[in-house]
Parts: sequence; C-alpha cells; structure tokens
Amino acid sequence: MLELDTRQVKMGQRAADKAEALALMGGFLLEEGLVDKGYLAGMQAREAQGSTYLGQGIAIPHGTPDTRDAVRQTGIRLLQFPEGVDWGNGQRVYLAVGIAAKSDEHLSLLQALTRVLGEDSLEASLREASTSEHVLAILQRTPQSIVVEPQLIALAQPAEDLDDLIAIAARRLRQADCAAEGFAGALYDAAPLPLGDGLWWVHGLRRVKRPGLAFVTPATVLSHEGQPVKGLFCLATGGEGHEALLERVCELLAAGHGAALAGGMTVAQILAALGAEAAPDWPSATVPLANAHGLHARPAQVLTQIAKRFDGDIRVRIAGSDAAPVSVKSLSKLLSLGARRAQTLEFLAEPLVAQEALPALLAAVQSGLGEPVEPLTEQDLARADAVTSDPIEALVDDTPSAIEAVPPPPAGSTWHAVAASPGIAVGPAYLHTVRSFTYADHGVSPEVERTRLRDAIHASRAELGSLIHRSPVKAIREIFVTHQEMLEDPSLVEDTDARLAQGASAEAGWMATINEAASTQEALEDALLAERAADLRDVGRRVLARLCGAEDAIEPDNAYILVTDEVGPSDVAKLDTARVAGILTARGGATSHSAIVARALGIPALVGAGAGVLSLAAGTPLLLDGDRGMLRVAPDAATLARAQEERAARVARQQAADARCMEPAITLDGHAVEVFANQGDIKGTPAAIAYGAEGIGLLRTEFLFMAHAKAPDLAAQEADYRQVMDALEGRPLVVRTLDVGGDKPLPYWPIPAEENPYLGLRGVRLTLQRPEIMETQLRALMRAADSRPLRIMFPMVGSVTEWRQARDMARRVALDTPVKDLQLGIMVEVPSAALLAPVLAAEVDFFSVGTNDLTQYTLAIDRGHPVLSAQADGLHPAVLKLIDMTVKAAHAHGKWVGVCGELAADPHAVPILVGLDVDELSVSARSVPLVKARVRELDMTKTRALAQQALDMAGPGDVRALVEAFD
Ligand code: PEP
Ligand code: MG
Repeated sequence: MLELDTRQVKMGQRAADKAEALALMGGFLLEEGLVDKGYLAGMQAREAQGSTYLGQGIAIPHGTPDTRDAVRQTGIRLLQFPEGVDWGNGQRVYLAVGIAAKSDEHLSLLQALTRVLGEDSLEASLREASTSEHVLAILQRTPQSIVVEPQLIALAQPAEDLDDLIAIAARRLRQADCAAEGFAGALYDAAPLPLGDGLWWVHGLRRVKRPGLAFVTPATVLSHEGQPVKGLFCLATGGEGHEALLERVCELLAAGHGAALAGGMTVAQILAALGAEAAPDWPSATVPLANAHGLHARPAQVLTQIAKRFDGDIRVRIAGSDAAPVSVKSLSKLLSLGARRAQTLEFLAEPLVAQEALPALLAAVQSGLGEPVEPLTEQDLARADAVTSDPIEALVDDTPSAIEAVPPPPAGSTWHAVAASPGIAVGPAYLHTVRSFTYADHGVSPEVERTRLRDAIHASRAELGSLIHRSPVKAIREIFVTHQEMLEDPSLVEDTDARLAQGASAEAGWMATINEAASTQEALEDALLAERAADLRDVGRRVLARLCGAEDAIEPDNAYILVTDEVGPSDVAKLDTARVAGILTARGGATSHSAIVARALGIPALVGAGAGVLSLAAGTPLLLDGDRGMLRVAPDAATLARAQEERAARVARQQAADARCMEPAITLDGHAVEVFANQGDIKGTPAAIAYGAEGIGLLRTEFLFMAHAKAPDLAAQEADYRQVMDALEGRPLVVRTLDVGGDKPLPYWPIPAEENPYLGLRGVRLTLQRPEIMETQLRALMRAADSRPLRIMFPMVGSVTEWRQARDMARRVALDTPVKDLQLGIMVEVPSAALLAPVLAAEVDFFSVGTNDLTQYTLAIDRGHPVLSAQADGLHPAVLKLIDMTVKAAHAHGKWVGVCGELAADPHAVPILVGLDVDELSVSARSVPLVKARVRELDMTKTRALAQQALDMAGPGDVRALVEAFD
C-alpha cells in the first residue's frame, strides 16, 4: 500500500495545458529520484492511448508498461493546480497524482483515490485546498458500505464491445436500485481504466441512488484501445466512500487473481472474493415447502412469475443454510436450490417491496404453487432436517445417494411435470442414473496424465464425429457439433493442465475443471444458457468414461420409459428409439437439449418431474402424457387401456394429417380456411412451410430485439426480415411490430415501474412513444419486402387514435420505401378494439385476433396467473362474442380476419372459429397439419349453427361440451 505524506504534495502549481502539466510532473518525479528521464515520454504515450482523468478534478498520470524500466523506485507525487488544467474532453484537473510504479502498486492508490470520488464537493475542495495537509485529508476520508450482491454480477454476457459491457453493468446497477435513469448516459463520458489482466474499471458519479459495484464479463474476449477486455467493474458512487471494497478489488488483482476473476470463478466465488455479504439484511419470512417433488420446474416457474410482479429484489434460500440466497426471479437459480418437500424456504425481500411480496410468496407456496399438496407430517419434517441443503453441492454431486432421500411417487398417483415432447407413452421404468466412476485423485506425473487426457479427448472427438455421422436428425447432429466445439475449448485443457501440474490425475483434474465451468454456466440468469451446462457435463462424462475405460450401459430389450436425472443428448441419441417409448427426467426444462432431442426423435417426454422419480423401482409401469404434462405411476388396467386407445388414435390421426399437410384446408362443403404459422425466430420459415403453412400469420418480432444488447439497426433488421421473406417464396408474411411491455420486457428499454404493467405502457402504446424505433422497424420491413406480400399489424391497439397514429407513420415510411403489396391492420387483443371493430373495419385492411391477450383482458384473468390462468379459456362465450363482432364488422367492409392466439390450434375451438367465419387460423408450425385436418372434417352449414349456439352458452365448459357432442 502506498502511503501519502505532505512532502509528496506541491501546492499552487500552474500549467497552460496538459503537456506542460505532464512535464511538471515528470520533473517532480525525476527530482525526487523516482524515475529516469525517459519516464516523461512514457506518461505522454499513456495519455495518447487514453486519458488518465479519474473524475472529480483528479488525473493519475503514469507511464506505459514498457517504460516501467525507467522507474527507479515506486512512489507517487501530487501536484495541485488551483486554476485547473484542461485534460481534454472538457475535463479539468485540479489535482494530478503522478505514479511511478514498478508493478501494480498503483492499484492501491487508485483504491485510495476512488474512495473519495463520489463526493460532489470534491472538485471544489481540491481546488480550494490551501495546504498539503488539507489535500491529504480530503483524499483519506472514511469509507462507507457499498452494495455488492449476486444480481450485480453478470458473467459471460453477449457483448460486442466495452460499451455493451458498460450498458449491461449500468442496467444491473439500476435493477439493484443503485442507480437511477440516466446513469448509463453519464458513464459513457467516463474514461474506462484498464486494471490489468483484461479487467477494466469505470465509475459513475451522477444519477447514483446508493453505492454499488457491478462486475460483468463478456462471453468472448473483447478489445478496447488495443487491450483485451475480459471483465468490467462498474462502480456507482454517490457521495459515500467505499474503501473496503476497492481495497479488496485492488488486493485481488495485485495478488494475481485477475485471471480467475476474468473467467473461471462462479458468481458465489466472485462475491466471496469481493467480500460481499452472504445475505442482505432485509425483511424475511419462512414457509415449509409441501410439494411432493420439491421445488421442481413447474412450481418454481410459478414462484418466479409471482416474484416478477414486484419491482424489487427478492431472494430465497433454504432456511438454516449458509448459502447465499438466490434470486426468486431466476428459474435456473431456484432449481439450483434443490429444495425438497418439507424443507423450509426463507424469502428475503428488499424493504420497498417486502410488505407486499413476502405475504404473496408465502401464500403461493402454502397453496402448492399450482400443484395439489398433502399436508406435511412430523416424519416429513424429520427427514427434511436430515437432508443437506448446499445448492452448489446439489449441483455438482451426481452420485445417486444425493438423490435417494426423496421417496418415489406412490402407485396409482398422478404427477405433473413439464411437457417437453408430445405423445402418450406406456412402459416399465428403466432407471438410467449417471454412472459414478472411481479413480485416483493423484496422477503418475503431469506428463503421463497430460498424454492420457489428450488421448481421451482425441478419442471422444472421434466418437462424436461418428455420432454426427450416424445421427439421422439435424437437431441432434448440431448438438454433437456443439459438443465437439466444447472439446476444442482451449481453456478446458489449460485449466486442467494447471491441476495436473499440481499432481492431480487426468480424471480428477478434468472433472474438477468441467464441474467448475458447468457451475459457472448454471449460475447464469439466462435459463437457456444455464441449461447448456448439461452439455458441458455430458462432454465431461464422455471424456471421463474414456479415461476410465468404461463400457456403455446395456439397455433393456423391450420398450421402456427412460427415467433419468438429467439426460445428456448423447445418452438419448445413443438409445434405440424403437425401444424408448418415453423419457422422464427429474431435472431440466422444456428448452433443455434433452427435450429438443426428444422432440426431434418424436419420443414423448416429461422433464423436471422432481427427484422422486429417481427412486421409482425398476420396472414400475408408467404412463406418460407428453401433451398434458402428466405422469401416472402404476396405473390401473382401465386407465392403461384408455390411454393405449387414445395413443393409437392420436398417432393415426397425426399420420393422416401429416400425409395431407400440403393440401389446402377446405371444409366438406367447399369453404376454404387459410392455415398459417406463428413464428418467433428468423430460421423457422422453411420448417413451417414443410408442415404445410400457407404463410406466416404472426411473426413475433420481439425475438429480434431480445437477441441484441441494444435495438438492432436498420440493416440488421432488414437482413433478418429478408431471410423470412425469401424463405416464404411469395407466400404472405403477417408481421407484428415490436410488442414489448407487460409480460414481454426488453432489457435495454426499461419501462418505469408501473402498478399494473398489463394495463400500462405496452405494445403500440409504447412504440408510439419511441417513433424512431418504430419507424426503423417499419422501414426495414418495407425494404425487405420488395414486391412480396407484406401485412403489418400493430399490437395492443385499444383506440382508433392509436391505430391512426401507427397507420400514418407506416404510410409516411411507405412514401420513401414503397411496397407493392402492403396491407396494414391491427391485432384485436383489447376488448375496446373488438367493440370498435365497426369503426376500425372501415380503415384497416385486416384484423388478427390475439386471443391470448383478448381472453385475459375480457375475463380479467392474468394469462400467467399460477392458479387462475387455467380458467382463462378463449372458448368463453364472452370472448367468442367479441370475435363474432370483429368478423361481422370486417366482412361488412370486405376485410379479412385471422386468429393467431393459442386458441386457433385448439381442436375444440377450430369448428367454432370456422363457424364464426374467421378467414385465417395462424398456429404453431407443428400444429398446421392437424388444424388443416380438423377443418376438412367440418361442414360449414352445421359449423355456423354450432358457433351460434356457442355464443349463447353460459361458460367455456358448456362450449367444450357442445363441441364434443357435435363430434
Ligand atoms: C395474443 O395475445 O393472442 C398473441 C398472439 O400475442 P402474444 O401471445 O405474443 O401476446
Ligand atoms: Mg398478445
């Protein structure tokens, strides 16, 4: 640590410009014997690379790394310039702190200086200081506490440059309520400082609510001013000191931990390294968990949804554990708790939201989070006490013993899990638990172990090559290609090498590296990225099996249901699909690779069923319904027979529908209904067409905006829209303009907290407030269209004025970007739009009914409500009446109407919607064949009569019964 004393300060200096100030500083350091003459050139070169202005009137001139040889003795000297010196970029320096450092000693100085930077009056104090004692006193003020918490750490973020990282850090600080709106803008004026090891430092002084430190790393190494960028510390500081933390950061770097901070450490490790508090001192409440399978995917999802309604940080941990509480808003983190039945959850909520959030969360847990729950017994509670609850352990421990503590679901019971791949499967349980290998911790010698590892990786790569070659399904091939890429990752070998050098065996070193990397991945807030940890573990096990010379397990001869913890893609792909009737996993989500593989192979699958399924006795008869997300354990003969029949009928129906999917959907009496596909990405168009889609009926353009760290520019959007239009080969494209707000947040477009976001700024209301974003999108769409059929619709239109404003904007854009075949319409998602359909129909070209939102607004039921959403049925006669009004109004003006909500694919709803004379149904691509087949069964006269009857029913149940009787 560098000490400061008054002899190191020269007061009352004057310099005409920065060059003169640097010369003065060079001279001061030289006369004090700290540096040789050449150091001044180094200081000048450093300024040329980037200003050393630190903030609040302080600059820290120092030499470049290659002029360290010119440093004779480490030390610092201070020059006070009461009149100030122009340091460039409009920044004025009143105190120059010249650093002569042989290594990284200047970090401790930086720490001492930054401590005081937050003080608004600092600049004036330094300027006005009359004695060197005064200057030093200003620089040595007492530190205060600063927020460092999990949500302020974001690892492996998609970022293209340092600015992106700054934006992410600023967003985290805002979300943690450390900074207010405008903080990010203020940051861009601050010059980021390299700290070494690819780590950078930036701090913001304005728009700070409370001091906080964010740490962000990019997914790939970036570059800034010719130097690598592997991580960024971003400090929000607003008048309070923060010495302890800065000291910690600087100590960490000086002690050589920079490389680990920049990559390799988990969030928990980083927090621990920074000395963050394990748990915040917030109001808390506890509640025992009664769900039979613990906090598995479904109930966890319900919990995250409830938490997301509150605009503040809410965390949870298992009561009594030392682990840092995790964010309730992160599904992957919730799952990583591994909370089991009868364990007590401890919720902690920021004081601002605690009063409302804690009772809501407690009530939701008590009511079972959407699952029926049995009351807890004494025995349950005693068992829960015996279970360990360290979340990190739970994640990395893949031995069966950690899982056996949960009892199996009893015979005759029905369980719910995430429906990952559709279809009904029946068969005995075949438990495929992760094999545990025994191996020595210590190796023969680093060289021997290195060779063994290299050989095992080489063999695994070849094995993957042959799997790629053999896999009939593209999605599976792509996964193995990804696995091969993972094996190419030099950091895996480098990290293992370091362990081998310390004496580890190839097996122990490799698995330690894999577990560490997978845990880091699992700690990510992005559920999709977190799920990729399963692939890393899969790759890890493949190499381990090679190192241990293990043979593959032998699967049974007859059709079975594969029951496993978290199936790796290679496990599934290796299985004989003729014998795997279904897949049931304890962990995983609908987007995990195992789910993707199961879908690609057409194997019915349920995932995230909870640890209990791993305790099922081998051979237990199982009935798995991949459509309804339901598992029956040892069902009785009658249930089984019904399911078998249903399965046979479904399979036959799907096959027949698939065979005729390219034919149009025409009723028995010759009425044509267009069947289009809904799409949420750019790539899916060819697949949709292959399923028989006659066009894209709803392109949800949010995906494009969500895939970027900031709003994509005109060229990026045009390229993406063009890709969709090209793939459509002249078929119509119905595009919805950006629909964010409410249930669809956009990270870089933060919407001020609203009491009720569903009734707040969202959809077109929001985009009309940002005309530049909307105009760019419209222009990109029109440019991409050329002469192809383009239909643009605006989401959440609730008034004629909104429609007219949006239409006028589109017309203005079309003036300079004309499109030959353009229609402009609205989505009917708000009851007022349906009620005003007679007025709107005169002006729009078409309507598309978004039944998902129309139902929630008509019935006043949140579409994501954990309990009530099941009642948000679009076949409610009230919703049907609004659709009927819309169609009648449109047809009176010769306009067409589509339905693009989930209702359009519901087999009960198709006859009603067709009977109400809806012209187009837009559904998920996979549903196109079945919807077309359903239309072909109908007779228009009878269907119209059915629809009229439905309008007069009392509730959705009556409508469904009516349709069943009709069939
Ligand atoms: C709808 O609301 O029915 C709709 C199609 O839009 P989204 O589900 O994207 O809100
Ligand atoms: Mg909608």
